[in-house]
Amino acid sequence: MNIQNYINGNFHKPIQNNWIDNYNPSNGEVYGQIPNSNKDDVEKAYNAAKSAFKQWSQTTLEKRSRILIKISELLETNLQRFAEAESKDNGKPVSLAKAVDIPRAASNFRFFGNAITQFASESHESVGQQAINYTLRQPIGVVGCISPWNLPLYLFTWKIAPALAAGNCVVAKPSEVTPMTAYLLGKICNEAGLPKGVLNIVHGLGITTGQAIIEHPDIKAISFTGGTTTGSHIAKVAAPMFKKLSLELGGKNPNIIFGDCDYQDMLNTTVRSSFANQGQICLCGSRIFIEAPIYEKFKTDFVAKVKQLKVGHPSQTETNIGALVSKPHLEKVKEHIQIAKNENGTVLCGGNEITVEGFENGYYLEPTVIEVPSDECRVNQEEIFGPVVTIMPFHTEEEVLEMANKVKYGLSATLWTNNLKRTMRMSHQLQAGIVWVNTWMMRDLRTPFGGVKASGVGREGGFEALRFFTEAKNVCIKY
Ligand code: NAD
Repeated sequence: MNIQNYINGNFHKPIQNNWIDNYNPSNGEVYGQIPNSNKDDVEKAYNAAKSAFKQWSQTTLEKRSRILIKISELLETNLQRFAEAESKDNGKPVSLAKAVDIPRAASNFRFFGNAITQFASESHESVGQQAINYTLRQPIGVVGCISPWNLPLYLFTWKIAPALAAGNCVVAKPSEVTPMTAYLLGKICNEAGLPKGVLNIVHGLGITTGQAIIEHPDIKAISFTGGTTTGSHIAKVAAPMFKKLSLELGGKNPNIIFGDCDYQDMLNTTVRSSFANQGQICLCGSRIFIEAPIYEKFKTDFVAKVKQLKVGHPSQTETNIGALVSKPHLEKVKEHIQIAKNENGTVLCGGNEITVEGFENGYYLEPTVIEVPSDECRVNQEEIFGPVVTIMPFHTEEEVLEMANKVKYGLSATLWTNNLKRTMRMSHQLQAGIVWVNTWMMRDLRTPFGGVKASGVGREGGFEALRFFTEAKNVCIKY
């Protein structure tokens, strides 16, 4: 199935008629083509957005809210179709797309549809000077949203929904690896009555389409989620134009387990935080540190549980782990397993590609647990972004804190303990934007979301996102 750009409420072929193949990771087959849009396509999308801005930014909050909530409802109505499309494009189990990805995309629109009606700005009376200041929060204009392949519609809408709610018009680009649900979203937006040009979706490679978006002088803000190298490149391009930037980048998150935790809960959650979505979640706890007295027990129990995970075709209900997103990504993950072996890591389970009967050319890999001799080895420092975790013991709080913080990333951290004082001490000192204690990936959409160090700048979520997508203007009136 070929997909097209969504510009000004209509579907268009790319102007130069350049196309890229779209692969189904579960069987390795090309199942469609997507536009590789260039500068002209982005310009066309920008012009549509610019023309729509005046009216959209003046649309009442109630009406904006109603349209966003309608989009949310239509996503819910089309849950099965969207979940199947996401799974086919990405390789994730349909059950996961149905339980997590698509419901969350719907929640993003509902949440920001509601949030905008509660968003307010401040006023400051200048006491003794007979003046009052009030702050306006005005939409920026045309903004760019660029998202990755791991949680395709979930992360695409996490940007688009607040941008639209705040009154901006959007030029958006999903990952070229997983464009399908973004394409389907265009149709839903029309059905929900989103005015033409308010949202424009252009497809294509990062170096062509994405680059054209970030270089566009009149796209004044870029919200980006993806790799740290790409984020750094975007920052360089955007800086001379003084664009507003929100960058959500890579992670290498520690999962720290103390002996006093609720063991069974920890074990079940750690299997999930290691391998959910084939380990392709920026928040996965890929470095597991275990307190020495329970290390051997954990190692035995964890490996036994991981071995029970069923790798299979994404549409089969018993599948826990589907296909990795692409052949190059599979190769990159396998390369890291080899690096671990070269650095004297011990593969405790997994490590091999799997052939799934009937889908022999799919990109399947066993969930892999590696015991590492040191936290400084490459597999403990570099983001792998696949079904691979490392384990190693620690002896003291100070030691584990140092190891946890000794990476360039700082996205999230997970801590398992029932000791309140330790919880407070450690969660305050962990270098991360998000700390989960005795849970993982529990999300409340009002909370700030983002990373420190090489994991990004800026925060998404709740009013933080609405602040990012607006400019504050102070008006001072003397009376
Ligand atoms: P990527 O950086 O390769 O691509 C992300 C997006 O950027 C894609 O749409 C791509 O086409 C586009 N892009 C690439 N080059 C560009 C350029 N020069 N100009 C503009 N756009 C360009 O990342 P990916 O491989 O799709 O995703 C995996 C990465 O994303 C991992 O590092 C992961 O940790 C990160 N991630 C972070 C978060 C978070 O919230 N911090 C969430 C999910 C994924």
